[in-house]
Amino acid sequence: MAAIHTLGDLRRSGRRSKPVKQEIRDNLVCKLQKGEALFPGIIGYDETVVPQLVNAILSRHNFILLGLRGQAKSRILRALVDLLDAEIPVVPGCEIHDDPLAPLCASCKTRVATEGDEMLISWLPREARYVEKLATPDVTIADMVGDIDPIKAAQAGLNLSDELTMHYGLLPRANRGIFAINELPDLAGKIQVGLFNILQEGDVQIKGYPIRLKLDVMLVFTANPEDYTARGKIITPLKDRIGSEIRTHYPQTRSNAMAITKQEAWTDRVDGLKVDVPDYVREVVEEVAFQARADRKIDKRSGVSQRLPITTLELVVSNAERRALANKEGMVVPRVTDIYAALPSITGKFELEYEGELRGAENVARDLIRSAVGNVFSGMFDGVDTRTVVEWFDLGGTLPLSDTTSAADVITQARTVQGLRELAEHAGVAKGASAPAMAAAIDFVLEGLCAQKKISRSDERGYSAAEAAPRRPSRREEQSLEDEIRIPGSKKKYYN
Ligand SMILES: [Zn+2]
Repeated sequence: MAAIHTLGDLRRSGRRSKPVKQEIRDNLVCKLQKGEALFPGIIGYDETVVPQLVNAILSRHNFILLGLRGQAKSRILRALVDLLDAEIPVVPGCEIHDDPLAPLCASCKTRVATEGDEMLISWLPREARYVEKLATPDVTIADMVGDIDPIKAAQAGLNLSDELTMHYGLLPRANRGIFAINELPDLAGKIQVGLFNILQEGDVQIKGYPIRLKLDVMLVFTANPEDYTARGKIITPLKDRIGSEIRTHYPQTRSNAMAITKQEAWTDRVDGLKVDVPDYVREVVEEVAFQARADRKIDKRSGVSQRLPITTLELVVSNAERRALANKEGMVVPRVTDIYAALPSITGKFELEYEGELRGAENVARDLIRSAVGNVFSGMFDGVDTRTVVEWFDLGGTLPLSDTTSAADVITQARTVQGLRELAEHAGVAKGASAPAMAAAIDFVLEGLCAQKKISRSDERGYSAAEAAPRRPSRREEQSLEDEIRIPGSKKKYYN
């Protein structure tokens, strides 16, 4: 393309622009023929979302991704940029990226007519052809489509419907490219009508004046599924023009989830100490999100984003980094107890149901971590005899450890507990492993036994014997616990 500088060059080259959806389709077909990876970095969608996405693009559809937050919807839309041509010819300076061979706006038409083959053209890279907008109720027609300045128009003696008087909004600026609108249902109905008109009819009314704009745009959207299907949220003609509805989902397996978090989380502290995150820590962090998504104390409608495990893992590594620096250790190995220090990245990532609000966000988060630890530990230590260690605590032994205890200290103290080190080795730590790695494995075993309620942990005493079984509630208390309490204007709630 380097040789094409003028309109004349372009005319002689035989190169003709295609409608944007055709261009994307052609490039996708080419990638499919070559067997190239589509949507690199999108994990766990190969058999679900990606085939539907490919079909939608092959069909030249506008489409919408329906899913909860943190399901890589925006990332998928941004990846569409890779399916555009590397660059396309445009009229230099045109705000709507007019094709030199078929300009839409009056000023470009005039230039082509007066300058002819001598007119210089420029090349627009694919990255500049993607426009994204988060829909909010206060978005106006002026933001989306544009505005006209009646005073300017009057001064110039122009007809108001002449687009020379127009200040272009986001949609015209996305001409010959991709326009992504996130959270479509939050867009006011009036704006949806405007969008639809400009796409279907090529014209729109602004301040009562008709404006003609034959735009070429691929429209893609995202929405929360419940908002999208709620009656009256999306105007029917617009819904009708969305060719495909594609559902996204959270990772279906723990290993997919771990792969996503590994890719996204900033854990390799290249500027600092070497970081080695044990697999069981990664698994517990992921399991916290899985537990949260299934927990009835947490609002399912808003979901639990994959950003929860991502930011949690980052804080887990930072807590371990802080400990390693304070104790002058040579490397950073996060422990399961570091996950409790990551509460600030967990509590803000979910909305609580009424029951959860009663319990409090921090307590809900602690419960999630505890059951996540229990789940991962039980999976790994199924059928492993832990009695020797549990008995040591039952006989009155205590280990005053915390998340700030140095690795050397953890190992020294663990020596007094017969069988503990062997259990730690069962967690996958090699015999000659570094002290921080061994300390982390010991910590995992102790936390696992806590989660199974075989031993207990308190801030004052560290690890000790399990608390005595809770007193059985009296008949009277049981009766009141079973009482159903009705909250006015709400669904039935049970306390337990
Ligand atoms: Zn133009």
